Amino acid sequence: MNFIQTRGCDKNRPQYVTFSQAILDPIASFGGLYVPEKLPELSEEFLNKHINSSYKELASDMLSYFEIDIDKSVIDEALSLYDKFDDANNPVPVVKVKENLYVSELYHGPTRAFKDMALQPFGIILSSIAQKKNENYLILAATSGDTGPAALETFKNRTNIKVACLYPDGGTSDVQRLQMVTEDAKNLKVIGINGVFDDAQNVLKKLLASDSFKSALREKHVSLSAANSVNFGRIIFQIIYHIHSYLELVRQASITIGEKVYLNVPSGNFGNALGGYYAWKMGLPVEKIIISSNENNVLTKLIKTGKYDLRDSSVICTTSPAMDILKSSNVERILFDMFGYERTRKLIENLENNNFYELTSDELSRLRECFDADFCNGEEGKKYIKDYFTNCNYLMDPHTATCIKSYETCCDPKIKTIAYSTAEWTKFSSVIANALTGEVDVHDIDALESISKETNLEIPAMIKGLFSKEITQDTIIEKEDIEKEILKFL
Ligand SMILES: *Cc1c(COP(=O)(O)O)cnc(C)c1O
Repeated sequence: MNFIQTRGCDKNRPQYVTFSQAILDPIASFGGLYVPEKLPELSEEFLNKHINSSYKELASDMLSYFEIDIDKSVIDEALSLYDKFDDANNPVPVVKVKENLYVSELYHGPTRAFKDMALQPFGIILSSIAQKKNENYLILAATSGDTGPAALETFKNRTNIKVACLYPDGGTSDVQRLQMVTEDAKNLKVIGINGVFDDAQNVLKKLLASDSFKSALREKHVSLSAANSVNFGRIIFQIIYHIHSYLELVRQASITIGEKVYLNVPSGNFGNALGGYYAWKMGLPVEKIIISSNENNVLTKLIKTGKYDLRDSSVICTTSPAMDILKSSNVERILFDMFGYERTRKLIENLENNNFYELTSDELSRLRECFDADFCNGEEGKKYIKDYFTNCNYLMDPHTATCIKSYETCCDPKIKTIAYSTAEWTKFSSVIANALTGEVDVHDIDALESISKETNLEIPAMIKGLFSKEITQDTIIEKEDIEKEILKFL
C-alpha cells in the first residue's frame, strides 16, 4: 500500500511513500501527514469470519489487508505483545455499564493507559526497520504523563533504538513520574525539566527541526525519529480495537452484525477517534462518532459550529490532562479525507497563520454526518465518577468520564454506545479519590489506598511496586540544557 500526503506534494518528496518511509519520517510535504492512498474494505463477511477470533487473529488479518512493507514475522512478533496484557485472550474487555452503554477498556497494558495499545506493537516495528537499515535511531518524546511511560516501556532494550523522554517536573502524577524515573535500561534517558508540558513539547519540536542537532547526531551515527501520535505506525494499530469492541458486543449477544453503534471517544490529539473513523470507512457499522472533550473544548466548537478558533484560547490545566490539547493534530487527516488536499492545506495554513479557520456550511454538514461532540468540565466529571460508581458499580477515570456528558447530550438512547476508557483508575487517583470521598490527597499513594478501601478494588502490584522501586533517572534540568544533556547521553 502507498501513502499520500494531506497537504499535497511539494515535489522535493516523492508523491508516494511506503509504510516504513511514512513511519521513519512522518512529516510530509508542507508539514502535512501521511495517509493511506485507499483504505481496504472489510465486508460483513470479514466480521462474520472473526466472531470467534482472538484479538491477535483479528489484528493480523486486518493488517494483511493494508499490504504494508513489514515482514509477517515482525508483525506477528509485534502483535504478540498483547499477550502481556492482563488477559492474553482478551486484551480489550468490553464491559456493560448500563442499558445500551458499554465501556471498551483500552488500559490493560503494561503502563495502565491506552497509549500501550499502539506503542507496544509500534516499538517492535520501528526497531525492526532500524535493524534492517542497519541504522541507529534516537526517539524523542515529550510527555504530559502517559506517552512517556508507554514509549519507554516499548523501546527498552530494543536494538538500534535509544529514547530521550522529556517530562515537566511536577507536571505529572506521582505514578506517571515513577513509571518513568524507575526505568533503568541503558538505551533510555528520562529528563525532567523545570517548566510545563508546552516547554518540553517546544524544545522537542525545535530539536526535531534543528540542522545543527541533526548533524551532531550524524557524527554519532544516529538518526532522529519521533513516536508521537501523528505517526501512521501508531494509527494503524488503533483501527483494530474499534472492530474488536464491536465484535465483543456481537459475542455478548448485545447486537447482531450490521447493527449500528455509537463510538464515544475521549479525545486529545484525535488518534483514537481517527482509528474509529477509519474502521467505519472500512465497513464497521457505526451510527456516529462522538468526540468528548474537557474544558479545552476546541473540538466541540469545531463540530458544533465549523469554526476551529484558537484566537482567544490558551491551554487550561484540567483533571483530564492527557486531553489538554488545543491543536489536535489528527483532525487534519479527517479534513483531507472529506475535503481533499488543496482545501486541507488552505485550512491548516489559516490555522497556523491566523489561529482560525471556518468550514463552509456544506463542509460542516458533511462533518456532522460523521461526528457529534460535547465537553465536560472537571466538576461534572467528578459527579459522573461518583454517580457511576454508586449506581452502576463501575469505576472510571476522569478522561473516560468526559464521555458520559456527551453520551447524555448527543446519543439516541435506543442505539448502543461503545465508550472508550483510556486510563485505569490508578493513574489519576487523586482526582478519583476526591470524587468518591471529597478528600484532597497530596500523594498518589494515599489516594490509591483510600480508593481501594472505598471500592474493594486492589491496587495492582505493578503500581504499588513503583513506590519502593529504585529511582534510576534523576536528571532534572533547565530547558536550555536539554540538547547538551541528550548529546551527553548518546
Ligand atoms: C492520549 C490520551 C487521550 C487522548 O487520545 P487521542 O488519541 O490523543 O485523542 C485520552 N485519554 C488518555 C488517558 C490518554 O492518555
